[in-house]
Amino acid sequence: MEKPDREQRHRNRMQRKKEVVDKAIARADQEQGLILVLTGNGKGKSSSAFGMVARALGHGMKAGVAQFIKGRSDTGEEAFFSQHDGVIWHVLGEGFTWETQNLARDTETAQKGWAVVREMLQDPALNLIVLDELTYPLKFGWLDLTTVLTDLENRPPMQHVVITGRAAPDGLCEAADTVTEMNDVKHAFRAGIIAQKGIDL
Ligand code: ATP
Ligand code: MG
Repeated sequence: MEKPDREQRHRNRMQRKKEVVDKAIARADQEQGLILVLTGNGKGKSSSAFGMVARALGHGMKAGVAQFIKGRSDTGEEAFFSQHDGVIWHVLGEGFTWETQNLARDTETAQKGWAVVREMLQDPALNLIVLDELTYPLKFGWLDLTTVLTDLENRPPMQHVVITGRAAPDGLCEAADTVTEMNDVKHAFRAGIIAQKGIDL
Protein backbone atom coordinates (compact mmCIF):
# COMPACT_ATOMS: atom_id res chain seq x y z
CA MET A 1 0.00 0.00 0.00
CA GLU A 2 2.93 2.30 0.76
CA LYS A 3 4.45 2.14 -2.72
CA PRO A 4 1.79 3.81 -4.92
CA ASP A 5 1.56 6.58 -2.35
CA ARG A 6 5.30 7.30 -2.53
CA GLU A 7 5.19 7.24 -6.31
CA GLN A 8 2.31 9.68 -6.36
CA ARG A 9 4.15 12.02 -3.99
CA HIS A 10 7.26 11.80 -6.17
CA ARG A 11 5.21 12.61 -9.30
CA ASN A 12 3.61 15.60 -7.58
CA ARG A 13 6.99 16.91 -6.47
CA MET A 14 8.49 16.50 -9.92
CA GLN A 15 5.48 18.19 -11.47
CA ARG A 16 5.91 21.22 -9.17
CA LYS A 17 9.64 21.28 -9.91
CA LYS A 18 8.97 21.15 -13.65
CA GLU A 19 6.58 24.13 -13.39
CA VAL A 20 9.25 26.18 -11.59
CA VAL A 21 11.97 25.24 -14.10
CA ASP A 22 9.70 25.86 -17.11
CA LYS A 23 8.81 29.30 -15.76
CA ALA A 24 12.50 30.16 -15.22
CA ILE A 25 13.32 29.03 -18.77
CA ALA A 26 10.48 31.10 -20.19
CA ARG A 27 11.73 34.13 -18.28
CA ALA A 28 15.34 33.75 -19.54
CA ASP A 29 14.82 34.63 -23.19
CA GLN A 30 17.62 37.11 -23.81
CA GLU A 31 20.72 36.50 -25.93
CA GLN A 32 23.85 38.51 -25.29
CA GLY A 33 27.61 38.33 -25.11
CA LEU A 34 28.65 37.56 -21.55
CA ILE A 35 31.53 38.45 -19.30
CA LEU A 36 32.50 35.55 -17.04
CA VAL A 37 34.99 35.80 -14.20
CA LEU A 38 36.56 32.63 -12.81
CA THR A 39 38.45 33.52 -9.66
CA GLY A 40 39.41 32.15 -6.23
CA ASN A 41 42.31 30.10 -4.89
CA GLY A 42 41.11 26.66 -5.93
CA LYS A 43 42.19 24.79 -9.05
CA GLY A 44 39.97 24.89 -12.13
CA LYS A 45 39.90 28.46 -13.44
CA SER A 46 41.97 28.21 -16.60
CA SER A 47 40.89 24.66 -17.35
CA SER A 48 37.23 25.73 -17.14
CA ALA A 49 37.94 28.62 -19.54
CA PHE A 50 39.56 26.22 -22.03
CA GLY A 51 36.60 23.90 -21.64
CA MET A 52 34.44 26.75 -22.95
CA VAL A 53 36.86 27.21 -25.86
CA ALA A 54 36.28 23.53 -26.74
CA ARG A 55 32.52 24.01 -26.49
CA ALA A 56 32.61 27.08 -28.72
CA LEU A 57 34.78 25.33 -31.34
CA GLY A 58 32.36 22.42 -31.31
CA HIS A 59 29.69 24.88 -32.46
CA GLY A 60 31.95 26.18 -35.24
CA MET A 61 32.60 29.41 -33.34
CA LYS A 62 35.94 31.23 -33.30
CA ALA A 63 37.97 31.91 -30.17
CA GLY A 64 40.81 34.20 -29.17
CA VAL A 65 43.03 33.40 -26.20
CA ALA A 66 45.39 35.81 -24.47
CA GLN A 67 47.64 34.55 -21.67
CA PHE A 68 48.88 37.33 -19.47
CA ILE A 69 51.13 35.54 -17.03
CA LYS A 70 53.06 32.90 -18.86
CA GLY A 71 53.72 30.29 -16.21
CA ARG A 72 54.95 27.58 -18.57
CA SER A 73 55.25 26.95 -22.30
CA ASP A 74 54.52 23.23 -22.34
CA THR A 75 50.82 23.11 -21.57
CA GLY A 76 48.51 20.65 -23.29
CA GLU A 77 45.95 23.37 -23.98
CA GLU A 78 48.44 25.51 -25.89
CA ALA A 79 49.72 22.52 -27.91
CA PHE A 80 46.15 21.51 -28.71
CA PHE A 81 44.30 24.76 -29.30
CA SER A 82 47.04 26.83 -30.94
CA GLN A 83 47.00 24.30 -33.83
CA HIS A 84 43.26 24.73 -34.32
CA ASP A 85 42.09 26.91 -37.24
CA GLY A 86 39.35 28.43 -35.11
CA VAL A 87 41.70 29.73 -32.42
CA ILE A 88 44.01 32.72 -32.22
CA TRP A 89 46.50 32.15 -29.39
CA HIS A 90 48.50 35.04 -27.94
CA VAL A 91 51.09 34.79 -25.20
CA LEU A 92 51.31 38.29 -23.80
CA GLY A 93 53.13 37.80 -20.51
CA GLU A 94 56.77 37.04 -19.97
CA GLY A 95 56.65 35.04 -16.79
CA PHE A 96 55.80 35.45 -13.17
CA THR A 97 56.48 38.84 -11.69
CA TRP A 98 58.89 37.44 -9.11
CA GLU A 99 60.99 36.18 -12.03
CA THR A 100 61.18 39.44 -13.97
CA GLN A 101 61.37 41.72 -10.88
CA ASN A 102 61.12 44.81 -13.02
CA LEU A 103 58.01 46.96 -12.60
CA ALA A 104 58.59 49.21 -15.60
CA ARG A 105 59.15 46.24 -17.87
CA ASP A 106 56.14 44.32 -16.52
CA THR A 107 53.94 47.39 -17.03
CA GLU A 108 55.14 47.87 -20.58
CA THR A 109 54.63 44.19 -21.40
CA ALA A 110 51.11 44.23 -19.96
CA GLN A 111 50.15 47.39 -21.84
CA LYS A 112 51.47 46.09 -25.14
CA GLY A 113 49.52 42.93 -24.40
CA TRP A 114 46.34 44.89 -23.77
CA ALA A 115 46.69 46.60 -27.16
CA VAL A 116 46.57 43.11 -28.73
CA VAL A 117 43.50 42.23 -26.64
CA ARG A 118 41.79 45.47 -27.65
CA GLU A 119 42.04 44.41 -31.30
CA MET A 120 40.41 41.11 -30.47
CA LEU A 121 37.69 42.97 -28.54
CA GLN A 122 36.96 44.93 -31.72
CA ASP A 123 36.70 41.85 -33.93
CA PRO A 124 33.12 40.57 -34.24
CA ALA A 125 34.42 37.40 -35.95
CA LEU A 126 35.71 36.27 -32.54
CA ASN A 127 32.81 34.75 -30.64
CA LEU A 128 34.69 33.90 -27.45
CA ILE A 129 37.75 35.48 -25.89
CA VAL A 130 39.69 34.05 -22.97
CA LEU A 131 41.83 36.48 -20.98
CA ASP A 132 43.77 33.99 -18.91
CA GLU A 133 45.32 35.32 -15.69
CA LEU A 134 44.19 38.88 -16.46
CA THR A 135 43.58 39.53 -12.77
CA TYR A 136 47.33 39.73 -12.00
CA PRO A 137 48.25 42.69 -14.23
CA LEU A 138 45.19 44.43 -12.76
CA LYS A 139 46.15 43.57 -9.21
CA PHE A 140 49.74 44.73 -9.66
CA GLY A 141 48.60 47.94 -11.34
CA TRP A 142 50.25 47.21 -14.70
CA LEU A 143 46.87 47.70 -16.36
CA ASP A 144 44.25 50.27 -15.51
CA LEU A 145 40.89 48.71 -14.57
CA THR A 146 38.86 51.58 -16.05
CA THR A 147 40.55 51.18 -19.43
CA VAL A 148 39.95 47.43 -19.34
CA LEU A 149 36.26 47.87 -18.40
CA THR A 150 35.73 50.48 -21.13
CA ASP A 151 37.19 48.20 -23.81
CA LEU A 152 35.09 45.29 -22.54
CA GLU A 153 31.99 47.48 -22.60
CA ASN A 154 32.63 48.49 -26.22
CA ARG A 155 33.09 44.95 -27.57
CA PRO A 156 30.66 43.46 -30.13
CA PRO A 157 27.33 42.70 -28.40
CA MET A 158 27.43 38.95 -28.99
CA GLN A 159 31.06 38.39 -28.01
CA HIS A 160 31.70 36.36 -24.85
CA VAL A 161 34.73 37.06 -22.66
CA VAL A 162 36.07 34.71 -19.99
CA ILE A 163 38.54 36.16 -17.48
CA THR A 164 40.55 33.99 -15.10
CA GLY A 165 42.87 34.56 -12.17
CA ARG A 166 42.92 34.82 -8.40
CA ALA A 167 41.71 37.91 -6.54
CA ALA A 168 39.53 39.41 -9.26
CA PRO A 169 38.99 43.11 -8.44
CA ASP A 170 35.49 44.06 -7.25
CA GLY A 171 34.93 46.38 -10.21
CA LEU A 172 35.56 43.53 -12.63
CA CYS A 173 33.16 41.21 -10.79
CA GLU A 174 30.52 43.95 -10.80
CA ALA A 175 30.85 44.34 -14.57
CA ALA A 176 30.66 40.56 -15.13
CA ASP A 177 27.47 38.60 -15.81
CA THR A 178 28.69 35.36 -14.24
CA VAL A 179 31.26 35.13 -11.46
CA THR A 180 32.52 31.85 -10.03
CA GLU A 181 34.89 31.55 -7.12
CA MET A 182 36.88 28.31 -7.06
CA ASN A 183 37.25 27.24 -3.45
CA ASP A 184 40.53 25.56 -2.48
CA VAL A 185 39.41 22.67 -0.32
CA LYS A 186 42.53 20.55 -0.97
CA HIS A 187 45.32 20.49 -3.56
CA ALA A 188 47.69 17.61 -4.31
CA PHE A 189 50.64 20.02 -4.51
CA ARG A 190 50.51 20.49 -0.74
CA ALA A 191 50.97 16.73 -0.35
CA GLY A 192 54.21 17.02 -2.32
CA ILE A 193 52.87 16.01 -5.73
CA ILE A 194 54.25 17.97 -8.68
CA ALA A 195 52.10 19.29 -11.54
CA GLN A 196 50.75 16.37 -13.57
CA LYS A 197 50.32 16.33 -17.36
CA GLY A 198 46.68 16.32 -18.39
CA ILE A 199 45.62 17.68 -15.00
CA ASP A 200 47.77 20.72 -14.22
CA LEU A 201 49.44 21.38 -17.58
P1 ATP B 1 43.96 25.11 -13.83
O1 ATP B 1 44.82 25.68 -14.94
O2 ATP B 1 44.40 23.73 -13.45
O3 ATP B 1 42.51 25.24 -14.09
P2 ATP B 1 43.87 27.47 -12.21
O4 ATP B 1 43.84 28.28 -13.46
O5 ATP B 1 42.64 27.46 -11.37
O6 ATP B 1 44.29 25.97 -12.52
P3 ATP B 1 46.25 28.92 -11.43
O7 ATP B 1 46.29 29.80 -10.24
O8 ATP B 1 46.24 29.53 -12.78
O9 ATP B 1 45.02 27.91 -11.24
O10 ATP B 1 47.45 27.90 -11.28
C1 ATP B 1 47.86 27.09 -12.32
C2 ATP B 1 48.60 25.88 -11.80
O11 ATP B 1 48.70 25.86 -10.39
C3 ATP B 1 47.92 24.55 -12.14
O12 ATP B 1 48.92 23.60 -12.32
C4 ATP B 1 47.12 24.24 -10.92
O13 ATP B 1 46.87 22.85 -10.70
C5 ATP B 1 47.98 24.79 -9.83
N1 ATP B 1 47.13 25.25 -8.73
C6 ATP B 1 45.94 25.84 -8.81
N2 ATP B 1 45.41 26.09 -7.59
C7 ATP B 1 46.34 25.63 -6.72
C8 ATP B 1 46.40 25.58 -5.29
N3 ATP B 1 45.39 26.03 -4.54
N4 ATP B 1 47.50 25.03 -4.72
C9 ATP B 1 48.51 24.58 -5.48
N5 ATP B 1 48.52 24.58 -6.82
C10 ATP B 1 47.45 25.11 -7.44
MG1 MG C 1 45.05 29.60 -14.38
